[in-house]
Amino acid sequence: MKRMYWFVLLLLTACSATRQTATTNVTAPTVINGKLFATLFQQRAAEYRALCFQAYNQARLRVDQLIQPGSSRPMAIITDIDETVLDNSAYEIHQLKQGKDYEPASWYEWTSRCEADTVPGAPSFLKYAASKGIRIFYITNRDEKERSGTMKNLQAFQLPDADNEHLVMRQGVSSKEDRRLQVMKNFEVLLLIGDNLADFSQAFDKKSISERQENTGQLSSEFGRRFILLPNPVYGDWETSLYQYNGKLTMAQKDSIVRTAVKGY
Ligand SMILES: [Mg+2]
Repeated sequence: MKRMYWFVLLLLTACSATRQTATTNVTAPTVINGKLFATLFQQRAAEYRALCFQAYNQARLRVDQLIQPGSSRPMAIITDIDETVLDNSAYEIHQLKQGKDYEPASWYEWTSRCEADTVPGAPSFLKYAASKGIRIFYITNRDEKERSGTMKNLQAFQLPDADNEHLVMRQGVSSKEDRRLQVMKNFEVLLLIGDNLADFSQAFDKKSISERQENTGQLSSEFGRRFILLPNPVYGDWETSLYQYNGKLTMAQKDSIVRTAVKGY
């Protein structure tokens, strides 16, 4: 009888340990918890909101300084969309609750809903710029098949130039350089706005962590001048450069890279 008691106890302990390990693996890896907290900052921290206002206030100051009445070339601003104009934090939470990060299928489903909110300060700034006769070009790495949903989402907030001519989707390559140059052929581009350094210059396209740091230093005077940067603590090339742009890593592999990337003492 005593032996039976110990057997049952051991079995229960083993089951409970297995369940705990499984739960930990699925719901609590470093990347998932890290992104949960970072998204909490995006959704709930008034400091995130203030940083966005700071970026768009600076953009407005620069527009006022750069605007040239009677300029021979038409003026434009190039802006990114995700985490620059539209806030996709609800999608991120939807994924994290299932122990997942971004994945194309669920992302397409999300963008087709046209339910993204706006980033604080973006609508009023874009409307202000448009009121000064500046054209807005949205250069995004959303796919062509996301065009109509994206346009509807922008139009829901009455954002200027939310039409086919000004909405520039990804056509194969993720680099935005060619698309920027295309706009620059016909327009004087006053500002570039984004949450990812590759939204500004090809100096940041698929670069290593150290090259990104180095090139940011070299272009330091452009930030707040020609480049307006929005905060994104949840995702971006700052994260994918850690993984050397390898899109096939498992969550466990990402976790281990993240743990080695941090510095302590
Ligand atoms: Mg973005």
